Amino acid sequence: MKIVDLRSDTVTLPTGAMREAIYKAEVGDDVFGEDPTVKKLEEMSAKKMGKDSALFVASGTMGNLVSILTHCGRGDEVILGDQCHSFLYEAGGIAALGGIHPFPLQNQPDGTMKLDQIRSAIRQDNVHFPRTKLICLENTHNRCFGSPLHPEYMADVYKIAEENNLAVHLDGARIFNAATALGVDVKKFTRYVDSVAFCLSKGLSAPVGSVICGKTDFIKEARRIRKMVGGGMRQAGIIAAAGIVALEQMTDRLADDHRNAKRLAEGISQIKGLSIDLSRVQTNIVYFGIENGRIKTELLIKEMSQKGVLFLSTGPDKFRMVTHCGIEAGDIKKTLTILRQVMKKAIAG
Ligand SMILES: *Cc1c(COP(=O)(O)O)cnc(C)c1O
Repeated sequence: MKIVDLRSDTVTLPTGAMREAIYKAEVGDDVFGEDPTVKKLEEMSAKKMGKDSALFVASGTMGNLVSILTHCGRGDEVILGDQCHSFLYEAGGIAALGGIHPFPLQNQPDGTMKLDQIRSAIRQDNVHFPRTKLICLENTHNRCFGSPLHPEYMADVYKIAEENNLAVHLDGARIFNAATALGVDVKKFTRYVDSVAFCLSKGLSAPVGSVICGKTDFIKEARRIRKMVGGGMRQAGIIAAAGIVALEQMTDRLADDHRNAKRLAEGISQIKGLSIDLSRVQTNIVYFGIENGRIKTELLIKEMSQKGVLFLSTGPDKFRMVTHCGIEAGDIKKTLTILRQVMKKAIAG
C-alpha cells in the first residue's frame, strides 16, 4: 500500500538527479571557505534572490535564528506575527540564545500584520523600553493558510522600516511557492527585505538545508554567528549539491502542488461534516475543519492513517494537509475517496 503522506512538504525525498549530484559533488572544508559546491549554491542563491551574498545553513530554523541574531543584540526587540514560525515553532531560540525580545502582533488570516499596528509597536527612545530593531515577515505564511504575501504589502512594511531605521527579515521558507502563486519572480518580494532565509528541503525536495541571503557585510557577520551556534559544516558540498539541483530543477513544478491542493480542497468542500474556506487555498497548504463535532479529531487522524493517508491535526477539529512532489493527482483522488468513506461512517454513527 502506498502511503499518501500529506503531513508536510518536509517529507519530500531527494530526486535521482540529487543523489547523482551528491555522489559526484566536489567538496572541501567549508569553514575554511574551501567547498566549491557550497560556494556555487551560495552564489546561485544570492543571484536568484537579488542579494549580494548568501550563506548555507542546516535548516530553516537556523536560517531565521542566525539572521535575527545578526540583526539584533541582547535587549533589542523584533516585531513579528503571533502565528509566525519563528514565534511559534523555533523553541524560543531568539530569546533563549540571543536575549532578543519578541513583540508579537496579531496575524490576519492572509498572513499580514496590520500596518498601523506595526507603526504603533515601534518603540520610542526611552530607558523603559527595549529597542526596536527588526520586523519579520513570513511568505508564504504557513499557519495562515499558506497565504502568499503580496509584493505591495511587503513594500509598505519596508517603507515603515526605512522611516524608522529598522531592518526587515523574511522567513521565505516557501518563497518559491509565493512566487508561483502570484506569478512573479522571487525578487519582487526580496527587494523589500534586508535578509531572506529560504528552505531547500521543503517543496524543493532537497534532503537538508536552507540559505540566508543579504548584503555582503550582513552575510559576513551571519557566517560568524552560524559558527557560534554550531552550524559551521565541513564538507557540506555533499548536501549543498542537492540544493543546487533543487534550485535548478524543482521550482517550476510547484504549480503542480498548488493545483493538487486546489483539487483536494474542492473535494473536501463536497464532503458532508467537513468545512473549508476554499478562497484561502492559494498554494500547497490546505486547512480544513470538522462541522458540529461529526467525528473526534484523533479518530479522523487514526482512521485515515490506518487506510494509508497521513496528515496533521493543528488543534481541536482542525487539520492541515500539504501537497508536494511525492503527491500525484491519483493520491488526491484516493485521499478524497477514503475521507468520504470515513466521514460517511462517522455520521451514520
Ligand atoms: C519549516 C519552516 C521553517 C523551519 O524550517 P526547518 O528546516 O524545519 O527548521 C521556518 N519557517 C517556516 C514558515 C516553515 O514552514
